[in-house]
Amino acid sequence: MSCDVCNGTGWKVGERGAERCHCWLDSVTTRLMDEARIPPRYSRCTIDNFVLYPNEKLHNALTQARKFAAAFPATAKGLCLIGPPGIGKTHIAVAVLRQAILEKRARGLFYDVRDLLRVIRSTYNPVVRTAEMDILRPVMEADLLVLDDLGAEKPSEWVEETMTLIVNTRYNEKRPTIFTTNYEDLEETNMDSLKVRVGFRIHSRLHEMCDVMSFEGGDYRMLPPNSGPSDLATLWQRNKERLPLPARTRGPARAQLSSGAGSNMLQDSQNRAATERAKRLADPRELKWPGGKAGRG
Ligand SMILES: [Zn+2]
Repeated sequence: MSCDVCNGTGWKVGERGAERCHCWLDSVTTRLMDEARIPPRYSRCTIDNFVLYPNEKLHNALTQARKFAAAFPATAKGLCLIGPPGIGKTHIAVAVLRQAILEKRARGLFYDVRDLLRVIRSTYNPVVRTAEMDILRPVMEADLLVLDDLGAEKPSEWVEETMTLIVNTRYNEKRPTIFTTNYEDLEETNMDSLKVRVGFRIHSRLHEMCDVMSFEGGDYRMLPPNSGPSDLATLWQRNKERLPLPARTRGPARAQLSSGAGSNMLQDSQNRAATERAKRLADPRELKWPGGKAGRG
């Protein structure tokens, strides 16, 4: 149906001459929102409809997110939201992304990290016929990127190389990224630490390019229907009592960790390999990224 204001031209006469009609702006926003890959369950998330309860670090994280969204794109740093599953990290990340699209018409993009890596791997499939760069370019070039669940993918050299390529490119181009992760900054010998899960290069970049916010809380997914904020506080309290330290790593990694000599050797070889790779990474154009095919299986 044609617009009454502009008769479908997309232009109208405003106070300062020709300007874009609201219908044209709305269609741009709709297209950007469609292209952002926001999962349906988060499609209505806003900063204002986030359910709060007494939780200081959560309040601080939300305040920081609100500031970021208001200032975007004039933001020097992205956000990194750290904490256990279900406490609202993805809601906050998506809320900021949606606001940037709706209010600033940003080219925004959401990716669950495991999905992203799976899609890059699939580029090797000759039936799919997508080039790796067709996937990677929008990820590297989005005005605002959300990478959800960083560290969830089993660490491997290919995963680390691929994520480093993405993160370093965005860092060099000064494009903000919002990360969420279940993995915290623990001692370096802990196989569940963020540094071990993502590799030391991405870890140090994260701290350079993001305001890092760590918080805990009640699991929103455990909330029964018709419950309220006070129930979240109760869930949080119960979690604290039940979980001294989440045991996320399975057998072999823990076994490696518990044998002292083994873990030192592991650490040494990891450091050597990482130093070699860091040298190659001095110039991102010289990154010998092995490509999507290397990540098969
Ligand atoms: Zn119009």
